[in-house]
Amino acid sequence: MNFEYVKQYIKDAGLPNYRIAQVQDAVFKRGISSWEEASSLPADLRAKLTVARPILSFQVSKIVCSQEDKVAKALLTLKDGFQIETVLLKPQDTWSVCVSSQVGCPLRCAFCSTGKMGFKRDLTQEEITDQVLMWYQYVRKEKLGERISSVVFMGMGEPLLNYVNVVKAARDLSRPDQLNIGARHISVSTSGIADKLHKLAVDLPQANLAVSLHNADNAERSKIMPVNRRYDLDDLKKALEEYIAMTGRQVFLEYSVIENVNSRPEHIRKLADWIYSVKDNYLLHVNLIACNLGRGEKTSDRVVKDFAAGLKGMGIGVTIRKSMGNDILAACGQLASQQK
Ligand code: SF4
Repeated sequence: MNFEYVKQYIKDAGLPNYRIAQVQDAVFKRGISSWEEASSLPADLRAKLTVARPILSFQVSKIVCSQEDKVAKALLTLKDGFQIETVLLKPQDTWSVCVSSQVGCPLRCAFCSTGKMGFKRDLTQEEITDQVLMWYQYVRKEKLGERISSVVFMGMGEPLLNYVNVVKAARDLSRPDQLNIGARHISVSTSGIADKLHKLAVDLPQANLAVSLHNADNAERSKIMPVNRRYDLDDLKKALEEYIAMTGRQVFLEYSVIENVNSRPEHIRKLADWIYSVKDNYLLHVNLIACNLGRGEKTSDRVVKDFAAGLKGMGIGVTIRKSMGNDILAACGQLASQQK
């Protein structure tokens, strides 16, 4: 729901300002999923809002819950019929939402189901924030807790290619009169759109930045991430140095370990060398994850642990991230492409 539009609708209808506060309370505190549940509003306003300003800008087509982990994944159908995914997960004590920023993705990374779908369109600001609002409604309804505490732009699409809507959505999500997600609890994950990092440091200086690296050799990275032909590792290095100088923030380097592709000792050495070549590299931290290729195929834990040990041995800060929800096709785009 675009709250600004609803506020304007109420003003244009000549209704008193306290109706806006009632809408805010119903949607962003009580987590109503239909205007009929907004009992503090008069019946005729509820009926008009149902037609003119639906709470969610999409239909929830399917929700699947992991039997293994605290993870749920939703398939959403947008007004034009395209489908996207969003994920609710509890990696630690609080709920986090992974949002999509585009329908499909133009970057075609070799290991990614979303990339194989091709690019359809950017999501609107409202379609992005509604993914979090939808999970807030779900968490309240299922009595799973009071709030969502963090949001990651790590779902379908490259967030920095839908820059304007992503920045607007991130700002809306942290507004105290909306979902009030702390600005430092919002993370943007990019495949490395180097020329957007300067602007990101200005527009969302509190956000966390993660860069999907997956290989520190230009030729090899280009094979699995064609975006590397446009912004190579040198471009990325310069952009990260500037970003770190501007924000002073830690940056996470995401590395999906793909057995026999980027998992060998020479890959560890090249990654360490590249990190050491970046100025202020003490602010770089590697997150390793076992690559989930779908259909139950996943890099073994042993290979990931060996990779982590190799990096640690070279003095690099590294964490192995748990791959969650493997039983529900958790990697981005897998549910939507299966549906297709
Ligand atoms: S990994 Fe991210 S950037 Fe690459 S194709 Fe998939 S969605 Fe796009």
